[in-house]
Amino acid sequence: MAVKNKSVAVVLAAGQGKRMRSNVQKQYLLLQDKPVIYYALKAFQDSFVDEIILVVGQGEVDYCKKEIVDKFRFTKVSNIVEGGKERYHSVANGLKAIEGDGYVFIHDGARPFVTEEILTRAYTAVQEHHACVVGMPVKDTIKIVDENQFAKTTPNRETVWQVQTPQVFTVQLAKEAYEKLLVEEENLKQQGIKITDDAMVVETLLQHPVKLVEGSYENIKITTPEDIDVAVSFLK
Ligand code: C5P
Repeated sequence: MAVKNKSVAVVLAAGQGKRMRSNVQKQYLLLQDKPVIYYALKAFQDSFVDEIILVVGQGEVDYCKKEIVDKFRFTKVSNIVEGGKERYHSVANGLKAIEGDGYVFIHDGARPFVTEEILTRAYTAVQEHHACVVGMPVKDTIKIVDENQFAKTTPNRETVWQVQTPQVFTVQLAKEAYEKLLVEEENLKQQGIKITDDAMVVETLLQHPVKLVEGSYENIKITTPEDIDVAVSFLK
């Protein structure tokens, strides 16, 4: 019988959430009486994923252990680590806490509506391609603009996807890419390359192909206050 590879989720909750314009960080804002971060953790807890590493803000480890992990009995959380300045620093810290091989599901804690169906689609794809990200084709036409905000080009909408999380890789590939990123960080900054997702790290640092897998239009990231209203309507 084939042995299933270990699956680990790295759930990110170390962002400042400045665009939320709230005193409470967005991962702790309440959505129907539960903090935003509860929903992503619950999805992984109830899924086939074996282990969860939670990445939280500086000085928030004890709070999260008591008020989130213990309180809601997220027994799959094996480690809570502190994040860093940029999202990719937080991911790198999460990856360092993974022991052994298998697959890593890197997920924004601010995306409450990830489902087992999405996780399964990603798991199937990562087994074949070693690197995949969840996303959806864009609904609107996208314009690339110049520095004066004039339309420069209009990519064919059928080839443009908006990318979500989870972004899933073999542990080995993700660790290799992020280790390389930390070495090349300054160099990339000087070239004006801004790392905004995990696929980009694998594409840019290792030139490894990344497969796109269908997520869902409900798999939104809570970023601005309007997103809370949308999330509440999804929960209803
Ligand atoms: O800021 P943004 O909305 O892109 O954040 C996406 C996810 O990454 C959020 O869940 C946030 O908490 C996390 N993050 C992090 N560490 C950072 C920045 C963002 O864990 N330094």
